[in-house]
Amino acid sequence: MPRVFNFSPGPAALPETVLRQAAEEMLDWHGTGMSVMEMSHRGKEFMGIFDEAEGLLRELMGVPSNYKVLFMQGGAIGENAIVPMNLIGRTGRADYLITGDWSRKSAKEAGRYGLVSVVADSAEPPGSGRCLGITPRAQWKLDAGAAYFHYCSNETIGGVQFHHIPDAGGVPLVADMSSDILSRPLDVSRFGLIYGGAQKNIGPSGLTLVIVRDDMLGYALPATPDAFNYRIQAEAGSMYNTPATYAIYIAGLVFRWIQAQGGLPAMAERNEAKAKLLYDFLDSSRFFSNPIARDARSQMNVPFWLKDPGQDEAFLAGAQARGLVQLKGHRSVGGMRASIYNAMPLEGVQALVAYMKDFEASQA
Ligand SMILES: *Cc1c(COP(=O)(O)O)cnc(C)c1O
Repeated sequence: MPRVFNFSPGPAALPETVLRQAAEEMLDWHGTGMSVMEMSHRGKEFMGIFDEAEGLLRELMGVPSNYKVLFMQGGAIGENAIVPMNLIGRTGRADYLITGDWSRKSAKEAGRYGLVSVVADSAEPPGSGRCLGITPRAQWKLDAGAAYFHYCSNETIGGVQFHHIPDAGGVPLVADMSSDILSRPLDVSRFGLIYGGAQKNIGPSGLTLVIVRDDMLGYALPATPDAFNYRIQAEAGSMYNTPATYAIYIAGLVFRWIQAQGGLPAMAERNEAKAKLLYDFLDSSRFFSNPIARDARSQMNVPFWLKDPGQDEAFLAGAQARGLVQLKGHRSVGGMRASIYNAMPLEGVQALVAYMKDFEASQA
């Protein structure tokens, strides 16, 4: 079976060259006679792999020296609890901006650890849970005494993405970047903390990346488990417990691949071109549509709907037959979703648009 174009939202496609290198090194990493999976996390071989991965990430993202990079576990859903456990104690309160399912989930979980205030919720109609954009800043109810302001830079399910860094009036920004980290250049110095699960744009699931400014540390609630205490993990170089070693190794290969492609500016250019191709087609189509506000459309996850949902199954089957897979939309919203992360080549989006054109023509 040839490789397919995999539009999965996550775990998602990885660059083929990365998978090939991992396959070559599977049984014998660099003459050690063992797989990376079999190495002690404290041995010099793995420490080398770890340091290189962290160094590459710092270089790609331009992470300032007063920030710690932590390789943790528990995913972004784990971070929904780990973030407030570590940060909310500074003032006992936090602001959450809701732009879709993921930020809504984050706010709900954080409420167990302190006073959570919803700054705005763009669900339309209110209470529906369906967000088609971002509430204008003038309508936000900001709390100057919040320990942090949390938002999700890219709502993976809804397809709503920030194309700017929000202004929280001086309150430290915390962002769930699970599905758009490394997709474009970012000014890390504007954030108190950035987190994301690896399985969208970084590598295999099981690894969670946390980038945290030094002054955010030291406010953990007493009940915070040591393994999830940022300060303890920072002091232990992410090795207070055994980290997700193999996932870190693959992430390092992905970081090197991004660097070889030209870094984050090159990723942004490619991602813009892919998204433009798809949205331009959607906007010109009378059969397919995307309802998200134009200034908040995601360049990573493009949900779209067929005019006749009775054709959904036929559309998916035809796509599968052309090697275009995992296009079914999230169960909570239905329709379709094309996830087009860094590893999706332009050719994949071209093949999808060609198929959609043919499908639309067949409906006439
Ligand atoms: C996938 C995703 C999550 C959940 O990640 P888990 O690894 O399942 O915890 C949370 N937030 C965003 C934005 C995501 O894309």
